[in-house]
Amino acid sequence: GSAVMWFRRDLRLADNPALLDAVSAGDGSVLALFVLDPALWDKAGSPRRDHLVSSLRSLSDSIGGKLVVRHGDPAKVVPALAAEIGAVNVHIAADYGPYGQRRDSAVEAALDCPLVSTGSPYAVAPGRVLTQQGSSYKVFTPYYGAWRDHGWRQPVEPPTGVKWIGKRSDALPESAAAAGEEAALKHWHEYLDDVAAYDDERDRPDLDSTSRMSVPLKYGEIHPRTMLADLLRKPSDGAAAYQRELAWREFCADLLARYPEAAWKPLRPEFEQMEYDEPGDAFDAWCNGLTGYPIVDAGMRQLAETGFMHNRVRMVVASFLVKDLHLHWKYGARWFMRQLRDGDLASNSLNWQWVAGCGADASPYFRIFNPTTQGLKFDPDGSYVRRWVHELQDLPGKSAHEPWKDDSPSEYPRPIVDHAEARQESLRRYAAIKGTA
Ligand code: FAD
Repeated sequence: GSAVMWFRRDLRLADNPALLDAVSAGDGSVLALFVLDPALWDKAGSPRRDHLVSSLRSLSDSIGGKLVVRHGDPAKVVPALAAEIGAVNVHIAADYGPYGQRRDSAVEAALDCPLVSTGSPYAVAPGRVLTQQGSSYKVFTPYYGAWRDHGWRQPVEPPTGVKWIGKRSDALPESAAAAGEEAALKHWHEYLDDVAAYDDERDRPDLDSTSRMSVPLKYGEIHPRTMLADLLRKPSDGAAAYQRELAWREFCADLLARYPEAAWKPLRPEFEQMEYDEPGDAFDAWCNGLTGYPIVDAGMRQLAETGFMHNRVRMVVASFLVKDLHLHWKYGARWFMRQLRDGDLASNSLNWQWVAGCGADASPYFRIFNPTTQGLKFDPDGSYVRRWVHELQDLPGKSAHEPWKDDSPSEYPRPIVDHAEARQESLRRYAAIKGTA
């Protein structure tokens, strides 16, 4: 009989061990399935929906238009389809997110055939990297060492001679985003030529020289194993720094699998007592890029216009929300998940916790980013802020970071808070919870 390959965050044919298992499970015929699950779809903003739809189109094209797309609750849709074709197995790659785990248990319970899980979206699956005492790591640097020691498999080839069954699906809305496995691999191979400079340039939003691979990684258009193998073939300081960033992605997933509540709750219990303000006008100004701090506003506008923001600027705007506006990080994290094309619960929540000082391995709370200094340091010529904040276009060089020093009339807002005062207030609130847990 046939097997079902249920695609989720693995929208590719190459280096996909679950797909190889599906091909060898039955008579070599495979039904490729994707389920548009309202529980996920309804929460994703339009950048993520657009990308997903394009990526599904591309996947379908690569198998002769045979991807079957169904809408609905996977616990109903998957068993019904498996029964329809008398499937021998349903094959998946494991999902370690809190919702994905619940969903897969429900599907497994409702299926009449086995649900076979092979691999994951990570080089080293969450839960595999353990201390000598058998517990998980809470601090990145030792995790990273153990992750490298653990190692990972070599990439596997795409399957050959598959007989794809299923009819062409009309369920996919039109979408224009460039996405899919072929585009991801092409982009990655081009980027590899420049990866040697990664460690020097990665913090500079004006140079825009990071890889932008977070998006293909999010949808599994490429597997990190493939990337790690390529990096090892071209050793350099840049390649080593890049490998370390990929490990951050895996560390975030490891933490979320271990502490599912970390999605929205602080990992450091004393932060449950932290005094935060309610989101109001200041939150709206942050979302809309109207805080009066150029680097913050440039980042928020880049996000709204493109669905992407540079990592350094993500840190700056996140710090500003928490430590200058005194708002709970979960509001910012929710906004990011709606706006980001690479929005990923594990990477997003754990990075927000890192910035907010309440994560497992967080930057110390009292180290508060000064948004102006950050701008001057990482966008020294002001070109990043001028690119995204058109009101600043006439301010030359680094003066774009301090528009309040210029007295010609401008549409651009005055700073909505005084950073020095906001900083003192943050430290006061932190002192009140320190040592309470
Ligand atoms: P590169 O610098 O080229 O990095 C290469 C890859 O390493 C990235 O594609 C990503 O997979 C991984 N990586 C790099 N930095 C991190 C990091 N700090 N944590 C985890 N993985 C990392 N990343 C997401 O993929 N989705 C998110 O929703 C997300 N939310 C974030 C929220 C905040 C507040 C912060 C500070 C960071 C967040 N990040 C998130 C991490 C990081 O900012 C992005 O992965 C990175 O900016 C993507 O751009 P790039 O692919 O060009 O990165």
